[in-house]
Amino acid sequence: MNDKLRIMIVAAMIALGVMVTGCAPEANEQGSTLPETSTSSEDAETASIADEHAEEEGEHADEEGEHAEDEGEHADEHGHEEEAEMLALPELNAAELGGEPLRVVATTSIIGDVVAQVGGEAIALTVLMGPGQDPHSYEPSARDLTTVADSNVIFVNGWNLEEGLADDLENIGEDAPVVPISANIEPMAFGEDAHDHEEGEEHKEGEEHEEGEAHAEEEDHGDEHGHDHSGADPHVWFSIHNVEQWVENVANALSDLDPANAATYEANAAAYLAELETLEDYAAEQMGQISEDNRFLVTNHDAFGYFAHEYDISVLGTIIPGMSTLAEPSASDLADLITEMEEHAVCTIFTETTVSDTLAQTVAAELSDCDDVQVLTLYTGAVGPEGSGADSYIGMFRANVDTIVSGLQ
Ligand SMILES: [Zn+2]
Repeated sequence: MNDKLRIMIVAAMIALGVMVTGCAPEANEQGSTLPETSTSSEDAETASIADEHAEEEGEHADEEGEHAEDEGEHADEHGHEEEAEMLALPELNAAELGGEPLRVVATTSIIGDVVAQVGGEAIALTVLMGPGQDPHSYEPSARDLTTVADSNVIFVNGWNLEEGLADDLENIGEDAPVVPISANIEPMAFGEDAHDHEEGEEHKEGEEHEEGEAHAEEEDHGDEHGHDHSGADPHVWFSIHNVEQWVENVANALSDLDPANAATYEANAAAYLAELETLEDYAAEQMGQISEDNRFLVTNHDAFGYFAHEYDISVLGTIIPGMSTLAEPSASDLADLITEMEEHAVCTIFTETTVSDTLAQTVAAELSDCDDVQVLTLYTGAVGPEGSGADSYIGMFRANVDTIVSGLQ
């Protein structure tokens, strides 16, 4: 219990530090009033959990209060935009190019790679976020916005993945049509992970008991944060099928904007779709090697819902609660995660290249039942740097599969 107490204090201090440095500028910019209602339930929960540690409670409660406000603010900011609804492709007219290539902008490095595969030599592509840039925390520079305004089209993920860009895109207006590359994909709602789908589907009886328990706990967790993070899970690229839809969307959009090169876009798309099929086969075969007992993921933030659904594994928990990296865990969130990991004998934590692993390392240090704790890095919102082998969507997906398979042996 002393260990638990210690991590609660350490985690709260770290979380507070991250929050102050990471989110203060945003809070200033937004200048929004904070919803009072969303703080009270979290405070109450913290109070009940921290019950037995009366001395520390005062200190915690203060930090938690700030936390909850911070989360509340995010919820307010995104609440109405982030519904779990399918996005549509806008109608696009042919651009007046005057013999120049179509000027295309893509937000994330992953979207940029897919657009590049389809557009090939026929387009002039600018990718706003470099490898290693977390899309949730990206803020466009003045130069980025000029590039967008001068373009013929910008491809975004949609569902507010690019939180820092949303307002600017609205201001840029009709000059550069905004195309959600995730159009025509049925989104999963946040928290709708493998558990939900396994239930009622084909599953062995012996397991159902365990799964049921884990499920119930996760649902509690979901409720706790549900009001803050409702909406579509934007991380659709972790299902290869969804990226196949991306490819079709890009081919259609580019062909509408630049009909002269439509045949090129269609041919490029077909060639890339064949590569994606090979990737699907590889991923299915590799993921199939993980034994039933080990099919639990603990990741840094909740980016792997689609992946878990696709490969029939469970996201046991995440270090950062929620599907944006901008959320902050409370000390009790982390203590709960440690308990959950110990119950399922999980000794591997998957961090990500785009976000600090400080909190993950803190949790790893507290897993006293594990002989050997592994902290392994996955690619989440960005491809890897050039020459890493993960500098493309296909490369990063393969690298993730290899890392997950090796980490869940
Ligand atoms: Zn994310």
